[in-house]
Amino acid sequence: MDFQQAGTLEERLKLLDNLSERFRSRAGDIDEAGSFPYVNFAELKQSGYTALTVPRKFGGEEISLYEMVRLQEKLAEGDGSTALSIGWHLGITKNLAEKNIWEEDIFRSVCEEIKKGALLNGAATEPQTGSPTRGGRPQTSAVQAGGQWIVNGRKTFTTLSPILDFFIVSATIEDTEEVGNFLIPRSVAGVEIEETWDSIAMRGTGSHDLILKDVKVPKKHFVEKFKPGKKQASGWLLHIPACYLGIAQAAKSFALNFAMEYSPNTMEGTIIDFPSVRQKVGEMEYELMKARYFLYSVARQWDDGSDQERLLMNPELGAAKMACTNAAISVIDLAMRIVGARSLSVKNPLQRYYRDVRAGLHNPPMDDMTIELLAKTSVFNQR
Ligand SMILES: Cc1cc2nc3c(=O)[nH]c(=O)nc-3n(C[C@H](O)[C@H](O)[C@H](O)COP(=O)(O)OP(=O)(O)OC[C@H]3O[C@@H](n4cnc5c(N)ncnc54)[C@H](O)[C@@H]3O)c2cc1C
Repeated sequence: MDFQQAGTLEERLKLLDNLSERFRSRAGDIDEAGSFPYVNFAELKQSGYTALTVPRKFGGEEISLYEMVRLQEKLAEGDGSTALSIGWHLGITKNLAEKNIWEEDIFRSVCEEIKKGALLNGAATEPQTGSPTRGGRPQTSAVQAGGQWIVNGRKTFTTLSPILDFFIVSATIEDTEEVGNFLIPRSVAGVEIEETWDSIAMRGTGSHDLILKDVKVPKKHFVEKFKPGKKQASGWLLHIPACYLGIAQAAKSFALNFAMEYSPNTMEGTIIDFPSVRQKVGEMEYELMKARYFLYSVARQWDDGSDQERLLMNPELGAAKMACTNAAISVIDLAMRIVGARSLSVKNPLQRYYRDVRAGLHNPPMDDMTIELLAKTSVFNQR
């Protein structure tokens, strides 16, 4: 059975158990070498996982946001980098389907490719704009000439860049105030990847720089216009907190196993019997439970909401992301305190989890933006 044949969430989670376990066995080496986990993505494609958010009208499974979040969380228990990377692809595909953002013909043709294993991601960040969610205007430029678009620029943090088939690139239309997204196939001349990804977190995401030199695409590849920093509420971004929660779950399991097995010769039994250790285990469970219920309920609210109701969900979406990423950081801190100095060994997965969850703070939306939005909402509701 593969992900297309599995009809229920339970069946899909069961399929993921195997994949996630294999990814876990490779994660340490990939992190240490700073290499890209090609084999993980080959297995995800082969299993049908990468096509799960293709809409039904194009022959896909069109899984719900709740289901996507549950699956992504499970995947991240095995390898955070792989989960975050494929989360962008699944989430963007879902978002395009939900909001009918592109012309139907072009989205249909991309979905046909996704069903055959093609991958896409957004390349929106630039050195000068910083996080695009803060409203910076892209310095990447697009100009029309001879019935096509010519795009030039450099994007940073392009996750999955070693194997992407399609880049969705934000650019400013030359000599205008207009900003939009361009669909750029990898095969087009002038598309280059510069291997700049030297992060200590999420090392297996291949988030290198994308360089576009006089890249020519047909007119219809100008797929979306938008105002920088003013995109509609985006349920699909919940793949981010799901990922960091999955990493935290893996850390909790590791620490708990350790506590139930480690028996220093100062005691009978294992350290799980110490009240100070039990306190930390309970706190980990509490943090995870709070975050999980919050994440799942916001995902379900999105699934059940009308288009109009979804437009108003930015506060909940931002708060769920902030709660989960910060809970993940706390859980890993507690897990490392339980395990002690061994947690700092390069061979110990906790030190990788510790580095990986820090990246969650710098994925959108950032905490300061969420807090400001919640303050604004609060003041608005008070009036
Ligand atoms: C693992 C990982 C994968 C990623 N994958 C992708 C991807 O696939 N595609 C993509 O496009 N991007 C991707 N990104 C980039 C991400 O979305 C952000 O754009 C990037 O992390 C930069 O965010 P930043 O907050 O550090 O940047 P900046 O916006 O430059 O902010 C840096 C710091 O400056 C301050 N600051 C800046 N502006 C303001 C402001 N207006 N108000 C208050 N303070 C401000 C804050 O203190 C902030 O921490 C990825 C990032 C990571 C970590």
